[in-house]
Amino acid sequence: MSITENYQRIRKEIPDNVTIVLASKTRTPEEIIKVIEAGATDIGENYVQEAEGMYNCLGEKAKKVRWHMIGALQKNKINKALPIFDVIQTVDSLRTAAAVDKRVERAGKKIISVYIEINIGSEITKDGLKPDYEIIESLAREISRLEHLSLEGLMTMGPRFGNPEDSRPYFRKTKDIFERIRALNLPNVNMETLSMGMTNSYEVAIEEGSNMVRLGTIVFGKRKYEN
Ligand SMILES: *Cc1c(COP(=O)(O)O)cnc(C)c1O
Repeated sequence: MSITENYQRIRKEIPDNVTIVLASKTRTPEEIIKVIEAGATDIGENYVQEAEGMYNCLGEKAKKVRWHMIGALQKNKINKALPIFDVIQTVDSLRTAAAVDKRVERAGKKIISVYIEINIGSEITKDGLKPDYEIIESLAREISRLEHLSLEGLMTMGPRFGNPEDSRPYFRKTKDIFERIRALNLPNVNMETLSMGMTNSYEVAIEEGSNMVRLGTIVFGKRKYEN
């Protein structure tokens, strides 16, 4: 099956209210162009450097889609990241949030959408805030006070277990935290998006309330290497 067919098949299979972010790591610009031409609306990048290369390479086509930062954001890359990305999904500390906030205007923007990343499985190898509700609420309140950030969702990787059913309780817990933060009705916070689910777990994630899945392998095929 081609990338085009894969994307269109998955797009049909997944409910309309669920956004598909195509995870582009290790893929070529040609592959990304294919998926954009097939109708993709959102692209996810793990590294600012790669995103920049990809964005420039795509020219006008890059402007047809929304760009999501889905990898850890280093402070020294924020200035480069801001002009490219529409959403930063990986905010997990006030330090990062404040560092982004400070640089938004300099990048010629008024506001940037952000999600809080939660390390729902408390895995030591993963980024994200630990799944302690009080800590997450307090970061949401702090972000709400930052003029140039618009908090719009939560993101989680979930444990990459072999059996996607094992992720279900973690997804459920993330959804619960999402609803609690949303119910706070904080100023400048508009909790709309729950970004969870990847190739092996997207079906379970959607059943548990995800409205944004981040897919790579199922559309582009197996990655030859991870970088
Ligand atoms: C690679 C990646 C994905 C997609 O993973 P697949 O298993 O290839 O679908 C999703 N989210 C993040 C943050 C990633 O790095």
